[in-house]
Amino acid sequence: MKKFEPSRSGMRVTGQSSRRQLLGGIAAAGVYAALGAPAVWAARKPKPKVIVIGGGFAGASCARLIRNEDRGIDVTLLEPNATYIACPLSNAVIAGLRDLSVQQFGYRSLRAQGIDVLHRRATAVETEKRTVTLDDGRQLAYDRLVVAPGVDLRFDAIPGYTEAAVEAMPHAWKAGEQTLLLRRQLEAMNDGGVVVMSAPANPFRCPPGPYERASLIAHYLKTRKPRSKLILLDAKDQFSKQKLFQAAWQELYPGLIEWVPLSGGGQVVRVEPATRTFVTEFDTHKADVANVIPPQRASAIAAIAGVADQTGWCSVDPVTFESKLRPGVHVLGDAIIAGGMPKSAFAANSQARVCAIAVVDLLRDRAPTSPKLINTCYSLVAPDYGISIAGVYQPANGLLTDVQGAGGVSPLDAPRSVRQQEAAFAEAWFKTITSSVFG
Ligand SMILES: Cc1cc2nc3c(=O)[nH]c(=O)nc-3n(C[C@H](O)[C@H](O)[C@H](O)COP(=O)(O)OP(=O)(O)OC[C@H]3O[C@@H](n4cnc5c(N)ncnc54)[C@H](O)[C@@H]3O)c2cc1C
Repeated sequence: MKKFEPSRSGMRVTGQSSRRQLLGGIAAAGVYAALGAPAVWAARKPKPKVIVIGGGFAGASCARLIRNEDRGIDVTLLEPNATYIACPLSNAVIAGLRDLSVQQFGYRSLRAQGIDVLHRRATAVETEKRTVTLDDGRQLAYDRLVVAPGVDLRFDAIPGYTEAAVEAMPHAWKAGEQTLLLRRQLEAMNDGGVVVMSAPANPFRCPPGPYERASLIAHYLKTRKPRSKLILLDAKDQFSKQKLFQAAWQELYPGLIEWVPLSGGGQVVRVEPATRTFVTEFDTHKADVANVIPPQRASAIAAIAGVADQTGWCSVDPVTFESKLRPGVHVLGDAIIAGGMPKSAFAANSQARVCAIAVVDLLRDRAPTSPKLINTCYSLVAPDYGISIAGVYQPANGLLTDVQGAGGVSPLDAPRSVRQQEAAFAEAWFKTITSSVFG
């Protein structure tokens, strides 16, 4: 039976000290060999080291699953924040239906599992030397590295939408203070005000997220400020669960949501934060409350580590999640282009399971096996009205591709009892995933 081992206080440090460790190990092995106990050498071999960058759904899951799979591997998790604030269901916080405190999670249970959690940011990666540099200057060595840093918002993509603009025009696409800011701005808006949102082109974090947000803001307006309206400017002509969302908008919020697709002039070409104005190819929209969801890319450390390509995203082997650009480095979660798989917390957790087993197999000289991965995304259209999309994916031609005939979306003509059930499933899913990752 595997025995629980408490975490080591530090990582193997490169250079002198690792050589010393190795020499110490060889010397010790010599003594035991002389005593005729060669098996002890295996026990004295330094433990393999895995460093995981990013303590979100992808990274925290992966760290945990590697430790579950093999307690003989030292795992260090790097995450600058002591509290993780989950995005799923954060649109309900914006609409005043949920408290931000229920979105917050700590890392105590990961530590209890023997994972060395360091609240530090990774600032550099040297893949040839296999080291990661932290923001306090320390350098840690790894045998395998997992990079799971999520996304960065691109402040170079929409002219006028700079980092300073997020106060007047919040994105709320990373949950936390921005989520509360958007909520406060909605609360402060007069009845009869206009909310304008913009959604980016694919790919981006949580494809159904902007439409769930538009729905829940519409619910807030309908119940609290019924003379108001919402305009959603979109940089694309199609979106996730589109028929289900649009049917629900007609049923629940007739005339309240105006969706402007790309072909109708939905692409935002400039914003003016001082007046909360969106400029599109054909029109100008002045908002009382403005929400810009800007284009995104893999978070900065991915490019620093050399695993992001010119698209800003990372390509990986679909069996092991090892980078196609840097051997020994695995990438997962929102930072990757996962073929047909969307950027979701559910997907990040599925990928983490596959990646964790592959990392352990590779460290133990076993050949990783081809996986099947699942994703399900629930969206709330109203507090008691949920819809979902599910998919199954498998490696094919170097990508993760849809398994034809598996998955699907909620039926278009389902009765309200099914919508209520799916809203309850959304909450149950959130509780299950957050307790399996952080609980
Ligand atoms: C409004 C909204 C609603 C959503 N709803 C759903 C939903 O209903 N269902 C669903 O499945 N998904 C949903 N998502 C998507 C989901 O939140 C993301 O897909 C998920 O968080 C991705 O996980 P991740 O671990 O890749 O990235 P993240 O959760 O962003 O975690 C990345 C972590 O890496 C850390 N990090 C970054 N750089 C460094 C560094 N240099 N060193 C150390 N650490 C670093 C960050 O601090 C962060 O904690 C939603 C997203 C949004 C915005």
